[in-house]
Amino acid sequence: MIELKHIEKRFGDLTVLKNVSLSIAEGSVMALVGPSGGGKSTLLRCMNLLEIPTAGSVEIDGDRLDFQPGVKVTTKSIQLVRRHSGMVFQNFQLFPHRTVIENVTEGLTTVLKWPKERARERAMALLDKVGLAHKADVWPSTLSGGQQQRVAIARALAPSPKILLCDEPTSALDPELSGEVVDVLAQLAREGTTMVMATHDLRLASRIANQAIVLDGGVIVETGTSHDIFTQPKQERTKRFIATLT
Ligand code: ADP
Ligand code: MG
Repeated sequence: MIELKHIEKRFGDLTVLKNVSLSIAEGSVMALVGPSGGGKSTLLRCMNLLEIPTAGSVEIDGDRLDFQPGVKVTTKSIQLVRRHSGMVFQNFQLFPHRTVIENVTEGLTTVLKWPKERARERAMALLDKVGLAHKADVWPSTLSGGQQQRVAIARALAPSPKILLCDEPTSALDPELSGEVVDVLAQLAREGTTMVMATHDLRLASRIANQAIVLDGGVIVETGTSHDIFTQPKQERTKRFIATLT
């Protein structure tokens, strides 16, 4: 479904990702863990090309892009690969001046040029799925953080992406509010949604993910099933990091 090969990302002199290769099968859920600054967000942003890798290749659902220093990729080819993924951010990033349902329909009507009615039907179905159909016409600011994140998940799923990318989806939320977001993500996982999620939330990762990758200093230090990584890590760095999680 998604394959990264030899991804390198530099910001000026700083190399943030070094030779990162991974593949994710359709229907599997991968947790991306590791200390702050390890490169998790940058790796997710490289997967949906919010950041352009300095080198390596990204392939999603058969569409592949190769990157080389100094060689520009076309906007058109970036868009082709980007439309395969949806992104959920730590701080929700809803449009504050759009109602809940407008947040979900926005990309469908502006980017995909769907007719308004069709976009509305799709958005209502997704809001229903995340338990927020009754909040369709309110402003995001009137919602709790957990509700806002569920809207953000509905918005990310609207164009039926092949893969859902989540960057610390619960870390801005109190434990009781993160539970409702974990429940929604768990349901998506059960339905076979392919996901990659950066998280410090062991409850989230161990409940939902089947695979895990530990990223530290821009390199993959360990990969395996999430069960093995969380219960019997092999690398010293992983052991030390897992011990800091609760
Ligand atoms: P994580 O999500 O694991 O905390 P990040 O991917 O956010 O890690 O950051 C990895 C490293 O890349 C950090 O050293 C960070 O300062 C650096 N970094 C991230 N984005 C940029 C940027 N736009 N410009 C320069 N450095 C960046
Ligand atoms: Mg991050």
